Amino acid sequence: MKIGVLGIQGDIQEHLAVIRKLGHEAVWIRESDALKTVEALIMPGGESTTMTKLLKRFAIWEPLRKSINSGMPVFATCAGMILLSSGIENYPAQDTLGVLDVTIERNGYGRQVDSFEADLYVNYFGDVPFRAVFIRAPKIATTGKEVEVMASFGGTPVLVRERNIIAASFHPELTDDVRLQRYFLDMVGNSIEDATSRM
Ligand code: GLN
Repeated sequence: MKIGVLGIQGDIQEHLAVIRKLGHEAVWIRESDALKTVEALIMPGGESTTMTKLLKRFAIWEPLRKSINSGMPVFATCAGMILLSSGIENYPAQDTLGVLDVTIERNGYGRQVDSFEADLYVNYFGDVPFRAVFIRAPKIATTGKEVEVMASFGGTPVLVRERNIIAASFHPELTDDVRLQRYFLDMVGNSIEDATSRM
């Protein structure tokens, strides 16, 4: 499969490397035409305000919203999740794509604890915990009815799925555990199968 990593700013190389390690093609997406050439998209972490500004400047913002709304599978981490959300609760107004029914508290895990790691128990992953790295992470404040919580930390959802979207507060590309990327690639495979069987 051909997976895009949306790369204007953020930890792009790490995501490209994991997808390639798992035997798939991974391409760096920097303009809207390239979006149409991939079967699914990864939206990395970084700084959400900068990412939003650049995606608009490079005219990717609206095509991105359209692709996601029409079913393209997306795996978003950290700032990527902020971009997909339906809104930010704590910082001054910031445009979001509004395609994932969660609201976000930016840097919601506190200033002192800029980064930390935690063991998570993830739906479908059984008893082996998933080590998650949080970096100035967004906290999910509210989740809509259709949102499945796949993992929580301290009673707060940190990994969610809604239709074609998976979003995480943490950075799975920074550890060797590839179960989440595998789960996402399975989801992409299934969505391609579904689309083919409808033809
Ligand atoms: N703190 C960043 C923001 O609010 C997100 C951090 C990250 O992606 N690791 O945009």
